[in-house]
Amino acid sequence: MRRFWVIALCSVVYPVYSSAAYASGPSAVKRSVVAAIDKHSGELIQMSDQIWAFAETALREYRSAELLASYAETNGFRVERGIAGMPTAFLASFGEGSPIIAIMGEYDALPGLSQKATAEKSPLVEGAPGHACGHNLFGAGSLGAALAIKEQIEAGKLKGTVRFYGTPAEEAVGGKTYMARDGVFDDVDVMLAWHPGDKTVADVVTTQAMVDVIVEFKGRSAHAAYDPWNGRSALDGAELFMHGVNLMREHIKPSSRLHYSIVSGGDVPNVVPESAKVWMWARDWQRAEVEGLLARMRKLAEGAAIMTETSSSLSVQAGSWELLTNEAGARLLNDNLQWIGVPKYSAEEDRFARAIQRESGMKEEGMSARIESLEGQEPEGGSTDVGDVSWVTPTLHLTVATAPKGSPGHAWPIVASGGMSLGHKGMLLAAKTLAATMVDLYERPNARRAVREEFETKKGEVQFKAYLPDGPPPLPPDTTAGASE
Ligand SMILES: [Zn+2]
Repeated sequence: MRRFWVIALCSVVYPVYSSAAYASGPSAVKRSVVAAIDKHSGELIQMSDQIWAFAETALREYRSAELLASYAETNGFRVERGIAGMPTAFLASFGEGSPIIAIMGEYDALPGLSQKATAEKSPLVEGAPGHACGHNLFGAGSLGAALAIKEQIEAGKLKGTVRFYGTPAEEAVGGKTYMARDGVFDDVDVMLAWHPGDKTVADVVTTQAMVDVIVEFKGRSAHAAYDPWNGRSALDGAELFMHGVNLMREHIKPSSRLHYSIVSGGDVPNVVPESAKVWMWARDWQRAEVEGLLARMRKLAEGAAIMTETSSSLSVQAGSWELLTNEAGARLLNDNLQWIGVPKYSAEEDRFARAIQRESGMKEEGMSARIESLEGQEPEGGSTDVGDVSWVTPTLHLTVATAPKGSPGHAWPIVASGGMSLGHKGMLLAAKTLAATMVDLYERPNARRAVREEFETKKGEVQFKAYLPDGPPPLPPDTTAGASE
């Protein structure tokens, strides 16, 4: 996920969450969508592998987005490209009227993490991007689920609309945040999403709300030896700001996280720096805490400017809300996971997983081969723009094992596994589980209502407001189709 790899710490208990709908077994339509994923599995794997090889970073995912969009179009979806001001965002839809059940897919890679699909660390192209968050699987798997549903609507077995949202830039500005701000999810009845991980679980834990700010200091330059008294150092302002942040750490909730990097702090030692820039994130599972931290960061910036006779400005440039979880939805996902079951791994795949674990200093235990319980999940660190969507429409979230247990987030083992059969098997399980859960949402108005009611109750009067500056998404300078080489 942006900025993270979903890992939920779960209990080892396996409670039975049986729903009435399972008394008579899965419906015929549900069996059909699972069979459809198998039927299309070759194409889905091929698309995932191509996106893996493209490895395009945020807002430069031209070929990846086009591959998915044209596959949807070829398969009869209406496709609208370039939504919410992003050339690589798109909406594919099929059917008419309600309910509108939608699913999201990501496809952006991470800079500098190129890796072969091998069990030892070895870049495919030195210094190039790589799919170290498994978004190649995320995009192709989700579209596979949407396609399976489309075929059932076309055959008259399901009524309503299915949508696939192609959501770019999860690893950077958060494409979904812009899409949510533009209202593209407003009429969706239920949204689904998943994320590749190192275990398989229907998620009932939240993610961290986060705010992403730039703090700039402006001073006055002077010769650092000849007339330093004429200068006022912007870097001094930045240093005092960061010192303040570090003292503040003692007086924040244990759940809060603060991290920063120095973007600029002067060019050469013999000039008093005229400008300095700090890039900083604050996170917590409670958005109210993030708001409080933001207010305190503003004071720190002002105080540091006063002390150094410089000026400061703090601007919010991005952010995410915490995930509004939906237990009614998670139970549907969990029921379907239990029915479909986790993949079987060959001896060769097990060797691959263990070799990766050995190579990266993890415990050699292979792939997770079980479904984690709904109970006892504990939230871990990380944020995602899926959180923003979850405050606009009820959002069901699934994590599926696509990499060996214990794989570090945003690192080479995820790229390696995501480019071979360990990743493919997880992707197909995700596609089947999501498609089967979508069938529940079409076929069972009561299930849909329970999901919606839980959403309305938890959301209360809160209205989503994006952590974004006004204006369009910050497209990279070379954002023209085909400029992604
Ligand atoms: Zn991710």
